[in-house]
Parts: sequence; structure tokens; C-alpha cells
Amino acid sequence: NPMEGRITDLGPRYYGDFLPPVIKENKGKWLYHEILEPGVLVHVSETGAKVYTVRCGSARLLTVNRVRLYCDIADKCCGGYLRFTTRNNVEFMVDSEDKLAALKAELASHKDVLPIGGTGACVTNIVHTQGWVHCHTPATDASGPVKAVMDDLFEYFGSMTLPAQVRIALACCLNMCGAVHASDIAILGIHRKPPMIDNDRISGVCEIPLAIASCPLGAVKPAKATNSAGEEVKSVKVNAERCMFCGNCYTMCPAMPLADPEGDGIAILVGGKVSNSKSAPKFSKLVVPFLPNTTPRWPETVACVRQILEAYAKDAKKYERLGEWAERIGWEKFFEKTGLPFTEKSIDDYRLAYDTWRTTTQFKY
Ligand code: SF4
Ligand code: SF4
Repeated sequence: NPMEGRITDLGPRYYGDFLPPVIKENKGKWLYHEILEPGVLVHVSETGAKVYTVRCGSARLLTVNRVRLYCDIADKCCGGYLRFTTRNNVEFMVDSEDKLAALKAELASHKDVLPIGGTGACVTNIVHTQGWVHCHTPATDASGPVKAVMDDLFEYFGSMTLPAQVRIALACCLNMCGAVHASDIAILGIHRKPPMIDNDRISGVCEIPLAIASCPLGAVKPAKATNSAGEEVKSVKVNAERCMFCGNCYTMCPAMPLADPEGDGIAILVGGKVSNSKSAPKFSKLVVPFLPNTTPRWPETVACVRQILEAYAKDAKKYERLGEWAERIGWEKFFEKTGLPFTEKSIDDYRLAYDTWRTTTQFKY
């Protein structure tokens, strides 16, 4: 046990302590797995042991009451074990068909909060970032638009009727701690205005050299400015043409906020995917440059994601991912079939980068 000899109780416990016994006993011996029905998997070991998994939709931010409910179900049906997937689904595992039947009956009595699905050619849970709840540089919310989009696409969570899996992700700024660059459909928060400089606070709350050094495009320079009391203060100026609205300067200097109700919104990118044993990774491409932050239900974003998904579902071949479909039919046809307008904002034109470096599709404003 790697935890032997530990002299403090800091940090998490050894992960092996949390594995269900059947998984621990069959480590390295799993032969294959199958999806028995939407949301239900079986893994088979060379010893003959089986693990049945029921996957349920969950949320990234959970109440204590909801966690308690999950734990009660795990205690009752699964020997006290459960796991969360990287897409924030919760999985309950058992080692026999009898226990599986009991588990499914238990989950059926909580189907309003524990929908079964998220496997195979479906839209599984949307991964997302922090949003307005937690981070300091978001251009859109995370849980809000994700909830609205997933409510609309719920029929695709518990079924496996799409040509292939469709991974949707949201990152609330283009620093992308949500990895939207490798998703079939990416919902990306974008700022469209440079930071606003608060000359009343800047010399008190910021280290100006740090704010200057933080800008990847060299757009921040030192400057003298006058505060609201008419005093001259050490400040900065921003070359607005160079700025790509990334928010790095605000991370270093809270007197340079760039959140703005009119400037902020959502861009949609499609066609990304991570690599697998057969194909290289693909990056998502920008197809919708801007949609407004229409709270609380983001109707424009919801409609746009459905429009793309339905065109793909209707036209793609079996097992073809969204980006593979777009490349096979050609991007011109992608815009035709989805009904999305094509604009110059979807074109990279690095050759014209004389005055501004804002020439890639993500920074066209
Ligand atoms: Fe913060 Fe950007 Fe990550 Fe959103 S995507 S949580 S704004 S770093
Ligand atoms: Fe530079 Fe980004 Fe700040 Fe613009 S938002 S000034 S590009 S650090």
C-alpha cells in the first residue's frame, strides 16, 4: 500500500481504497465491454467476473442533498461504491444481474433527478467551466447555457440514435479551461472589447510591470493618467487594435476588467475531437462568430446547437463524427445544410496581419 508510512493526513486517500472489490480483484484482466442498452454497460473479465454499470446524468455543481441521495443509493444497491465520469455523469456499479435489476428499479424511482443514458451514439453530459459562479474572466455563464442546451437536447441523452457520439463542451472564455477545442460542438464565451482601465484603483491594486508583462500580444504599455480626483497616477494604456480580449491582463490586474454586457457573448465552434487509435485529433472550427448572452435560457444558443445537431443527424453516415461529416461533404455544404450564414469571420487571414494580430477566426472583432 503506497500510503503505508504516511506521516500526515494531508491530501486525498489512496484511490485504490475506493475501488469496488470486483474491480480491484480483476485489475488488468478486463477483456471487453458492451453497451447493453442506453446508459447500461457490462465489462467482462477473463476470470468470468462481470461489472454492470448504470450511468446517470448529473451536474457539475451539486447540492449536499443530491450527493447524499447518490450515497444512499450506492449504500443500498452497490456496496457503498459509486464513481463520477469526466463528463460529470454519476455511475453506479454492481457485480451481478440480480443486483443490476434492483439498482435499475431503485434508479427508476428517482428518474426525475437521475436520468439513465449518456452512452454510445448520444449527447452525453456537457462538460463546462466555472462561469459567473466562480471565475473572474468569463464572457458567458457556464452552468446556465449548459442547462438550457441540455434541457433542449435531453431526448438524445437517453437514446443512441445519432450517427456517432456528439461531445458538447462549454468554456466561458477563450483561455478554455474547458477544452472546447476538441469537441464536436463547442460553446465558447468571447469578449469583444479591450479591457477598461480604472485609473482610480490601478496604482493601488496592480503591479504595473506585471500587467504589462501579462499581455501575450504586447498590447499593454505604461502610461501616466489622471484619476477622478484630478491627480496624475501611474497607469497603462492598451493598444485596442492589438488586443485579442483574452483577459490575461485582468488576471494580473483587477483594475483592467473587460466583462461587458454588450461586448460579451458566445461563439460556436464545431468538428473537434480527441485522437484515438485510428485517427489524429481535430481542432474545432469557428462557424458562428457571435450570439448574445440572453439570460436566463440563452434561446439563440439553444436553437443554434440544435440546428447543427439535427443537420448532422440527418446527413452523416453511421460512426461518422461531426467534424468527419463536415470534411467529407465540404465546409461549403456544411453551411448550406445547417443553414448557418457563412461570414468572413470564419476565415483565417494571417497574411493581412500588418496592423493587428487579431486575424484568426476566434479574435475577429
Ligand atoms: Fe475562467 Fe476562462 Fe476557465 Fe471560464 S474558461 S472558468 S472564464 S479560465
Ligand atoms: Fe493583452 Fe489580452 Fe489584456 Fe488584450 S485582454 S490587453 S490581449 S492581455
